[in-house]
Amino acid sequence: MEINSLTGEFVRASNEDAFLKHKQDQTQSLLGFTLVFCTVFYLGFFATDVAALGWGPDTQALLAARILVAVTAGSCAWLAYRRAMSVRGTRIAASIAESVALASFMLISVLRPAEFHWHAMSLAIMLVVVYLYIPNRLRYASILAVGASVAFVALADKYSQMSYADTLTMGMLLVLVNTFGFLAARRFNHVSREEYRSWSVLKHAAERDHLTGCFNRRYLHEQLMSDQRSSAAPDTNSLTVVLCDIDHFKRINDTHGHGDGDMVLRGFARILQAAIREGVDTVVRYGGEEFLIVLPGTDLAGGIRLAERLRVTFAATEVVSNDGATRLRATASFGVATLDLAPLAFDTPLRRLISAADELMYQAKRNGRDRIESLQLA
Ligand code: GH3
Ligand code: MG
Ligand code: MG
Repeated sequence: MEINSLTGEFVRASNEDAFLKHKQDQTQSLLGFTLVFCTVFYLGFFATDVAALGWGPDTQALLAARILVAVTAGSCAWLAYRRAMSVRGTRIAASIAESVALASFMLISVLRPAEFHWHAMSLAIMLVVVYLYIPNRLRYASILAVGASVAFVALADKYSQMSYADTLTMGMLLVLVNTFGFLAARRFNHVSREEYRSWSVLKHAAERDHLTGCFNRRYLHEQLMSDQRSSAAPDTNSLTVVLCDIDHFKRINDTHGHGDGDMVLRGFARILQAAIREGVDTVVRYGGEEFLIVLPGTDLAGGIRLAERLRVTFAATEVVSNDGATRLRATASFGVATLDLAPLAFDTPLRRLISAADELMYQAKRNGRDRIESLQLA
């Protein structure tokens, strides 16, 4: 998970997408909160229009401009609070609110040309908000901030009575704000991604088995058994588990050594993982050479079909030993148990199913190994 040093974003798009999706809820509420805050201040500053210009057509135009900003930013905030938005949607909302606010700020400056010094200060604060507070992609925030700064200096040159020295100072101030705004936003991007990276590594280590990459017992107990996964059951309300155990695995270890035994374990796990539906089914390394497959929305016939496919594939697969000299073959025995369950009930059935599948797997061993025993639970 490499981080780009210029933007502070992940280099690989898939990592960046996963990070942004992981943060999306937080991003939305931050967007909503910041926009509401900005809107209140933007409207509040109408008092300064009245103080500077009195009540006349220009003041009314500025009121209209401020209301436009409030309506735009307010709608975006409302969306952010009320609707599940995509990452892209959030960025579009942020960019629209920022563009409208910066554009109407240019109108305010032009209609109050005597106060460009103050406007420069306000703009500097707005740019800090754009870079650091309104969540947006750094690239888009930078384009908007630099664009607004250039436009502002051009308008100051045209409409204000500022001396050359004042205009220069103002320009330098805006360069300073843009530079530090960019650097601070980049650092923030970097830090939040580093945090996510550490979190991902820890999460992976906490819930996966190091040798095979399958989920571990901790994941089974903490996630699967406590998770109400009825929504993950696509077709039926059946829940099926398959418990598989490699036959005479101890002999492989005893004959070829533990290194080659590990290769066989890895090969078996690869076959299991390749056969399941990603994001729906789960493979857990249940014990040394025992694996548990949890299949939500799968009935007994589906479970048996899968087990049979796994049995045949594994029996036909040759695993190359560590030194490359030997080709190892093994078989496995399977217990398949199914239960039709009411939605929102997962914990107790899963426990029941696992112990039934365990019993069935031992039955398969007793009945000669390399076979499947199955049962539909009432
Ligand atoms: P059965 O057909 O009845 O299942 O016989 P078995 O030999 O497969 O079963 P048994 O339970 O007697 O042996 C399992 C062996 O698995 C014993 C243990 O040393 C080995 N084992 C457990 N975890 C690992 C591992 O991570 N790597 C290796 N290489 N071996 C392991
Ligand atoms: Mg075994
Ligand atoms: Mg065993």
